[in-house]
Amino acid sequence: MKVSEILTQSTKAFPSLEIVPPLRGLTKKELLESIAPFMEFSPRYINVTSHRDEFEYKEEADGSFSRHLVRNRISETTVCAAIMSRYDVEVVPHLICGGSTKEEIESRLDNLEFLGINNIVALRGDSMTGEKRFTPTPGGYSYASELVEGIRRYQGSAVYQRQRKMEDAINDRFFCIGVGGYPEKHFEAPNIETDIENLKKKVDAGADYIITQMFFDNKVYYDFVERCRKAGIDVPIIPGLKPLSTSRQVTTLPEAFSLDIPVELTKAMKEAGDDKDKAYQTGTEWCIMQCKDLIRNGVPAVHFYTMGKSRNITEILKECF
Ligand SMILES: Cc1cc2nc3c(=O)[nH]c(=O)nc-3n(C[C@H](O)[C@H](O)[C@H](O)COP(=O)(O)OP(=O)(O)OC[C@H]3O[C@@H](n4cnc5c(N)ncnc54)[C@H](O)[C@@H]3O)c2cc1C
Repeated sequence: MKVSEILTQSTKAFPSLEIVPPLRGLTKKELLESIAPFMEFSPRYINVTSHRDEFEYKEEADGSFSRHLVRNRISETTVCAAIMSRYDVEVVPHLICGGSTKEEIESRLDNLEFLGINNIVALRGDSMTGEKRFTPTPGGYSYASELVEGIRRYQGSAVYQRQRKMEDAINDRFFCIGVGGYPEKHFEAPNIETDIENLKKKVDAGADYIITQMFFDNKVYYDFVERCRKAGIDVPIIPGLKPLSTSRQVTTLPEAFSLDIPVELTKAMKEAGDDKDKAYQTGTEWCIMQCKDLIRNGVPAVHFYTMGKSRNITEILKECF
């Protein structure tokens, strides 16, 4: 089932859970065990993030440098297949522009079609380690809006096209597409208005819904939704939440994601200091408060950036859904 259908059919807010593929070396059994606590809540779907290959440079004996591919994580498609082999749940792989040509992306779409996956979150991806700005791969897409267009142009693999009348394939929307939105502005955008204009390009290109970057003050989300509606964006906007779990994140998250942490939460986390349990509980309680308020205000779903950690997320799910 497509996420757009789930959203249309739902009568109340439901949780949407995002996991990160495991590092290489972990087994399929370990992956499935790590998500088992989430499955007790019968999630409608699971998002799986995508991670670009990196390169490292090694100095050779003659002083020259050689380039080596570093693939730290199992691919999102493999993780989706592993989840589908055990659980009856929709999977939503993320697909990024960075690191792939248009042909390579089309071949990934063939793989998803083969697995019967018809949901995708389309993203540009970040710059590679050491790069100041995102550099598109030669022959690849520069912005997520172009990737959305590319996915919408997809007409199915050659096999699919042989099996179905071309006419049906053209009328068919193979994939339901989600895209990212930034209530506090994407860090590269000159201002929120321009960023929302760029977000609208993704929707005009065919995105079915938006998932927001994490935020810690719900007012930021409500204002963002209002601005989007005024700009003519009418698709569902799913709020993204992440509970803080350590005091250090008060410094690291704003740096990494270009967002604000409210004074009250900053103060509470600083007070918790080195008391790990207190910091964890403070972050969890704040997230519960945010989640309950969002549900009261009629959001269609709440997306959780779980980072593969289940204890705080399951506590939040128990309290809120
Ligand atoms: C819900 C969610 C899930 C994510 N999952 C992943 C993941 O799995 N893997 C991963 O690597 N990253 C992920 N990210 C991070 C994301 O890849 C980065 O935030 C990235 O920097 C931007 O991606 P985007 O798709 O929003 O880019 P875009 O929508 O392409 O926007 C990037 C920047 O370009 C600007 N822009 C857009 N279009 C144009 C245009 N036509 N002309 C000029 N400027 C333009 C925008 O305003 C913005 O500043 C996720 C983010 C979110 C919100």
